[in-house]
Amino acid sequence: MTSANSLEPASPALDRASLRPDCGNCFALCCTAFGFSRSADFPVDKPAGSPCHNLAPDFSCTIHDTLRPRGFRGCTVFDCFGAGQNVSQGLFFGKSWIESPDTKSEMFAAFAAARQLHEMLWYLAEAQTRTFDPDASHRAAQLRNTIEQAVGGELSDVLSLDVQDLHSQVRLTLIEVSEEVRAAYLAAGDDHLESALKPGADLMGKNLRSRRLCGADLRGAYLIAADLRDSDLSGVDLLGADFRDARLDGADLLKALYVTQPQLNAAHGNHVTRLPADLKMPSHWQDA
Ligand code: SF4
Repeated sequence: MTSANSLEPASPALDRASLRPDCGNCFALCCTAFGFSRSADFPVDKPAGSPCHNLAPDFSCTIHDTLRPRGFRGCTVFDCFGAGQNVSQGLFFGKSWIESPDTKSEMFAAFAAARQLHEMLWYLAEAQTRTFDPDASHRAAQLRNTIEQAVGGELSDVLSLDVQDLHSQVRLTLIEVSEEVRAAYLAAGDDHLESALKPGADLMGKNLRSRRLCGADLRGAYLIAADLRDSDLSGVDLLGADFRDARLDGADLLKALYVTQPQLNAAHGNHVTRLPADLKMPSHWQDA
C-alpha cells in the first residue's frame, strides 16, 4: 500500500462520458462476440463468436426499435461501458472482423476483456470522486492508470493483462471507499431493516417501498422484482446488485454508490426517479 507521504499527484477525475457506448463506431461486438440463451431475456439461442441473425451488414440492428416486444430484452439491458468503440477503433484501427476475418477471435477476446476493464474504470472514477481519503483516492488513480494504459495501448497489452487479479484489487478499493461513504449515512438508516440489508442479501420481491435505506451495504444483493418505489438509496452500496424488474419509481439514487446503466436498464422506474450523475433514464421507463 502507498503511504500518503509517497503520493504522486493524483490523476484528475475521469469523465465517465468516455465510458458511454458509441455503437456507430463499433463493429457490433456485443451482437457477435457474446452468446446468449433462450430465456426471459432472449427468444433464441446464439453461440458466442457468431453474428446475431438480426444484425445488418452495416452493424446496425434490424429490430432496434422493437427489441423488448420481440423478446430481446437482454439487448436493451447490456452496456459495454465504451469498450466496443475502443476495441473497434483504437485496438483494431477501424478494420472490422468482416474486412479481416482472421482478426475475429482476437477482436472478440479483446472485447471480452476490455468490457470488464471499462466497467472497472466506471467504478474507479466514482470511488475517486466520492472518497475524502487521499490514500484511497491515490489507489483508485493508480488502478485507473494501469487499466487506461492497457486499453489505450496495444492489443497485446489488453490480452496479456491479468483481469481477474486487477478485478480483485479494484474490488478492495471499492469496498474501502464504500465503507467510508456509508459511514456518513448509517445514522439515517432504518433500524428495523438493518439485519436484512447486507451484501448478497436475498431481497427478491421484497417490499422496501418508501424506506430510508441510507448507507446500507447491498453489494451483490438480489433485488429482483423488489419494490423500492419512493425509497431513499442515498449512500447505499449497489455494486453488482441484481435489479431485474425492481421498481424504482420515485426512488432516490442520486447519491447511491456504484450504480451502472445496465442495472437501471434491467429495472423499472419513472421520470421522478433521481439518478446518479452520468446515468440516463432508460427509454422503456418513458414508455411506461
Ligand atoms: S437483436 Fe439486435 S441488438 Fe440484439 S444481439 Fe441481435 S442485432 Fe444485436
